Amino acid sequence: MAHRIRWIDMGVNCYLVDGDSGHVLIDTGFPSKRDKLDAALEAAGCWTDGIRLIILTHGDVDHAGNGAHLRRTHGAPIAIHRDDAEMVRRGDMSVGRKAKPDRQTFVFRSMVRIVGLWSKVTGTGADFEAFEPDVLLEDGQDLAGYGLNARVVLLPGHSRGSIGILTGDGDLFCGDLLANYWRPGLHFYIDDMGRANESLGKLRGLGVRTVLPGHGKPFPLARLPG
Ligand SMILES: [Zn+2]
Repeated sequence: MAHRIRWIDMGVNCYLVDGDSGHVLIDTGFPSKRDKLDAALEAAGCWTDGIRLIILTHGDVDHAGNGAHLRRTHGAPIAIHRDDAEMVRRGDMSVGRKAKPDRQTFVFRSMVRIVGLWSKVTGTGADFEAFEPDVLLEDGQDLAGYGLNARVVLLPGHSRGSIGILTGDGDLFCGDLLANYWRPGLHFYIDDMGRANESLGKLRGLGVRTVLPGHGKPFPLARLPG
């Protein structure tokens, strides 16, 4: 059965998927965009129906930043891969990462600098409210128990515990391994290029049709260069 997917645009993409037994939310956005997220979830009926599961593709602030808030307000369990769990336990994106990532493009560094300046002005930063995850995900884990015809695919590179969620229809929510700002490609920030290249090779063999990235528009996997 095809699941309905709603795209909540918050600078980072959050996806609300209607599973067989309720809503599953993939990623939660920046804490500074909380009001917008709450409004989108209310419009989608999540306040009345509840959220069955919150899945975090990885532990960065723009994906995990509203996890603690949503668990408080919706009572939904939060799932993340065990290798990124310490990031959310501490509310710190640098946990488990190299001091100097293998790939950090000029554009990305400039964006981070601008966001840093913005954070100083607005008082919002990269820190977020720490929380203990409820579910530690494993590579290959079947999500049928949460009403979702999908499985977990470990795709390290951007972070150690970065995961994709692959549905039975061939939709891959890929987190920040890939992005599609103006064309599909690797995300601007890759902690470990060796692992990222292995992850790319792995996802090409999974029968993926559409990639739904953490940033930018969804695209057919066939449009990914190389
Ligand atoms: Zn991101």
